[in-house]
Parts: sequence; C-alpha cells; structure tokens
Amino acid sequence: MIVTRFAPSPNGPLHLGHAYSAIVAHDLAKERGGEFLLRIEDIDGVRSRPQLAREFRADLAWLGLEWEEVPAQSTRLVAYEAAAERLRAMGLLYPCRCTRLEIRDAANAKGPDGPIYPGTCRGASFAPDEVVAWRLDVGAALRRTGPLTWLDERAGEQIARPELHGDVVLVRKETETPASYHLAVTLDDAADGVTLVTRGMDLFPATHIHRLLQALLGVAVPTWHHHPLLLDETGKKLAKRRGSPSLAERREAGEDGRALADTLRAGRFPAGITLGESLSGDS
Ligand code: GLU
Repeated sequence: MIVTRFAPSPNGPLHLGHAYSAIVAHDLAKERGGEFLLRIEDIDGVRSRPQLAREFRADLAWLGLEWEEVPAQSTRLVAYEAAAERLRAMGLLYPCRCTRLEIRDAANAKGPDGPIYPGTCRGASFAPDEVVAWRLDVGAALRRTGPLTWLDERAGEQIARPELHGDVVLVRKETETPASYHLAVTLDDAADGVTLVTRGMDLFPATHIHRLLQALLGVAVPTWHHHPLLLDETGKKLAKRRGSPSLAERREAGEDGRALADTLRAGRFPAGITLGESLSGDS
C-alpha cells in the first residue's frame, strides 16, 4: 500500500506552498488507495511552538484533507540517539566543535545548503566533556555502502551523491536537539512505513544524504516525489515573510478552504504566484 506524508515544522504558520505540498501528498495517496500521514517535525525545541501544530490540523481539515497523524518528532528522541550510537560504533561519526562562522571562513566549496564543511575536526582531539556536534564521514560511509541509487517519480532514477553536501551534521550541538533533520527524517519515514516521500524540490538534494543513511541503517528505501515549488513574483520559493497570507489568516477571514484546494489542484494560483518547474529546486 502506498503511504505518503506531510511533515511540517511548527516554527511558522502554513502558507499556500505548504497547502500545495499537503494536497499533492494527500491526493497521490488517495488516488492509489493509500494512506496520507501527518507528522509534526518539532525537533527544533527552541523554535517549535505547540500552538502551531494545532493550527496545522485546523488548516488541513479546512482544505478538506483527511489524514492519520503519527507521533511528533519530539517523542522519538531515544530512537534518534540509538541510531547515532550505531553509526558511531561503525566509526562513521566524528565530533566537531566548529561554529558556523568558522566553517564559512574555512570552506572553499559551496554545497546545496551552503558552505561545504572542509573536515577541520576530522582526527582532532576533544575533552570528554566538550560539547560537540557529530558529523557523518561521508567518504567512509560511501566506501562502506558502495554506489547507491534512488528513484524520484518525476525526475527518474538518480545516482546518490551525498558527497555534494560534505560531512553533514547528524547530531547537533544543542543537547535538547539530539538529531539533525537528515537523521530524524530518515528514521521517521522508515518507522512510519512511508513508501512515497512527497515534498518540494527544495529538498531534492537532501535525498542524497537520506539514501546513504538508509543504506547504513538498513531501513526500507521508499520512492520519492519531489514536486515543483510555488514561487512568488520574484521567482523565489513562496514564504510567509514575502507577503502571502497564511492558511490560518485565510481560514479566519472566512475563505472556502475546499474551493482553494481545488483551485490549487487545477493549477490556478493567486496573482503573482507561479509553479516552478525547475528540477534543481532553485529556480
Ligand atoms: N519538516 C520539513 C519542513 O517543514 C519537511 C521535511 C520533509 O518533508 O522531508 O520543511
């Protein structure tokens, strides 16, 4: 059975781009007799606001979607820690004390999410009580797994190229957040039985890392569906801060959510909003 999901982070209200993403995931599941899941990605303890998760549910119901909710990320920390420990035991994680600024200054290449970590702390020594992040040694990991591929329904078969990101952080420095997005989402999609990971093109490059983590952790490999993003007048990914009203604001103003969902399905977008088609995700 096909299982898709919508996995919003409760650190800002949902906007039309999220609505589009949720509708795509919902409809792909429902058209094929499958299941559509909602997972609240509240791993970022400092920025997450529980009130927003309640708003998200109201937004999805207003759009006329039906879903099954799975446990939020904040309830899964033990599983994240256990996976990190396994990777550490495999010798694939190393501690890192570098700040963002230090990385920016030392990096000489840019990856999909900013400067590529130049490996400064690989082989460095650390005091036992030093607060560190843990990075994946991507080169060593790839030597262990060998070449990997993954399948995107729209873009076709892909060769996994996690090295594009360099050695990503899998365990963050802050103690209340014991996993990074990459580790958490990989484990969650596997634990929730997601068979078709549906999300925007902006996360297409992240899939290279997720595929590597799946191979290392021995979890099931889904198919992906990276959909085009809604873009604003300037061609940038739609964001609340660039003036598009949130779903909650539309809902509270009395707009018909089901009708809105149908116009998005039909590819009709409010003035100034277009659907990007770039497969690189940065159009
Ligand atoms: N929580 C992520 C976000 O809100 C989405 C993660 C995913 O779909 O893989 O951007």
